Amino acid sequence: MADIKRRQFDSLIIGAGGGGLRAALQLAQADASVAVVSKVFPTRSHTVAAQGGMNAALANVLPDNWHWHMFDTVKGSDYLGDQDAIEYMCRAAPKAVYELEHFGVPFSRLDNGSIYQRPFGGQSQNFGGEQAARTCAAADRTGHAILHSLYQQNIRAKTHFFDEYFAVDLLKDEEGQVLGALAFNIHDGEPVIIEAKTTLMATGGAGQLYRTTTNALINTGDGMAMALRAGVPLQDMEFFQFHPTGIAGHGMLITEGARGEGGYLVNADGERLMERYAPKAKDLASRDVVSRAIATEVREGRGCGDGNHVMLKLDHLGEDVIQKRLPGIRQTCITFLGIDPAEAPIPVFPTAHYTMGGIPTNRYGQVVVPVKDTPEEPVTGLYAAGECACVSVHGANRLGGNSLLDILVFGRAAANHIIEHLGEHRYHKPMDENSIEQAMQRLNRWQQTGEGESVSALRTELKAVMEEHCSVFRNEQVMRHGVEKIEALAKRLDDVRIGDQSNIFNTARVEALELENLMNCGLATMHSAYAREESRGAHSRIDFPERDDKQWMRHSLYSLENGLDYKPVRTKPISVDSFPPKPRVY
Ligand SMILES: Cc1cc2nc3c(=O)[nH]c(=O)nc-3n(C[C@H](O)[C@H](O)[C@H](O)COP(=O)(O)OP(=O)(O)OC[C@H]3O[C@@H](n4cnc5c(N)ncnc54)[C@H](O)[C@@H]3O)c2cc1C
Repeated sequence: MADIKRRQFDSLIIGAGGGGLRAALQLAQADASVAVVSKVFPTRSHTVAAQGGMNAALANVLPDNWHWHMFDTVKGSDYLGDQDAIEYMCRAAPKAVYELEHFGVPFSRLDNGSIYQRPFGGQSQNFGGEQAARTCAAADRTGHAILHSLYQQNIRAKTHFFDEYFAVDLLKDEEGQVLGALAFNIHDGEPVIIEAKTTLMATGGAGQLYRTTTNALINTGDGMAMALRAGVPLQDMEFFQFHPTGIAGHGMLITEGARGEGGYLVNADGERLMERYAPKAKDLASRDVVSRAIATEVREGRGCGDGNHVMLKLDHLGEDVIQKRLPGIRQTCITFLGIDPAEAPIPVFPTAHYTMGGIPTNRYGQVVVPVKDTPEEPVTGLYAAGECACVSVHGANRLGGNSLLDILVFGRAAANHIIEHLGEHRYHKPMDENSIEQAMQRLNRWQQTGEGESVSALRTELKAVMEEHCSVFRNEQVMRHGVEKIEALAKRLDDVRIGDQSNIFNTARVEALELENLMNCGLATMHSAYAREESRGAHSRIDFPERDDKQWMRHSLYSLENGLDYKPVRTKPISVDSFPPKPRVY
């Protein structure tokens, strides 16, 4: 493998969304040499699409403190979240927001000049009391503002970018320590070995597993699949968040901020349906609760139009509020539906949105795996942060506004740990040539042209199987068929070819590599869901409607070699008392 281009850095970051860029900035400012690889230009990462905002107990609008935020997050997670990581995140939140402000993020403002905060789902004052207002927003384009500011700061700090390079697989030494990755330049197809003392995965979620999704085409779970292939099991993959308000039939997101500003859902009878499902929090109950409510209304014949959606009403808010606080979603509705939400309601239905599961880490961003009798031991030099990671602050259900917070807090935490690691490990280690050869084989595999299964046809089938067999409501039979179907699809990968001889672009190779990655994530999701015989957060089983803390208050771990395993939830916070599991009502 002597002829492949090699580059050396202290630290490699795969992914240039908010998680990757926050980590990169911290490292570059500490004078580490840092490379960021991204398959799209950095500011096109999915973070750019985040609308509603980022949670922090600033108490600018209503009373608040980090401990209430922690309680809401633990409750929102349906008690599957790890409480040490949740405490760490909620405590760090205000600082993370002020840092962003200093990086140049133009947050919306209150009349007194402080940062605007809106109410979001699952937020309360005083451990389950009145609604809180905790979500810091830049109108409904918060992710755009954050990602662009972080990118500009990284340019200033001299982070090295590999733009439009696709990371194929992790590379290791003979003892199995990760020492970087193989990537290839999508423009000319040239491979490059990036050697690094530490590698941080920040590759985002796998929303493309589903047919209807709010996620960008690039969210194909590449990093999760790379981890799986490197022998790291994926954690809690059965928990996939369906956002209650995707535009019906299309999936584009209408931010929860629309309900935070006072919008509400109505069924075909014109009834404000959430009053029945969540008498107190109503439309600002947790996402899993609202998604189930909408799916139930439709199933029981109270859907609007053709019976397959409900309506989100905003017109009573008045054009001024909508234009000031929700300009982006107004434009989306006008462009794609010909509906102005200032005048008419928006047809909505739950749509795939967020991967709660992912690469298991501790609160320092270190990837952790079970070793012999210990549930988790850090893997030297390998880190993960952001949506691809499972730290786990979201448990079985993420609260809106907590993901932007997660990516920034744990992107920074991982970088701080990496800086320590670099202080102790000054030299590069030699790579195992076999590891390079294996990654090259996989890359070359997706160069095979000729007749065979088509990438796009198989991907379409995969998305349909996931949507039909692993959606908002699940049961044994539906998922058993799902497992059979996805196993059969995975076998057909062998017959996939990227097309005939003429006119093949590297993007066809990218799509094939992404399909293989999606398939691995789909297998993990379907198998983990089939095995969990309880209802918790986003995993809702009609045949096991109750949460079962005795048996199931534990994280699942799915690996390609050994199938499923489990490990305990970290119920002990750092400095405060645990929140013990309670029935979860809103
Ligand atoms: C429409 C929408 C709205 C949202 N709104 C909010 C909100 O208001 N508040 C909130 O808290 N959360 C929100 N979320 C969730 C939140 O935005 C995401 O979870 C978060 O931004 C993910 O950030 P990330 O850094 O982990 O990954 P991403 O931003 O997804 O970035 C992933 C990066 O990895 C790179 N990458 C992936 N695979 C490869 C590969 N093989 N090779 C090279 N590079 C690769 C990509 O190029 C990209 O740079 C929203 C999500 C969506 C989809």
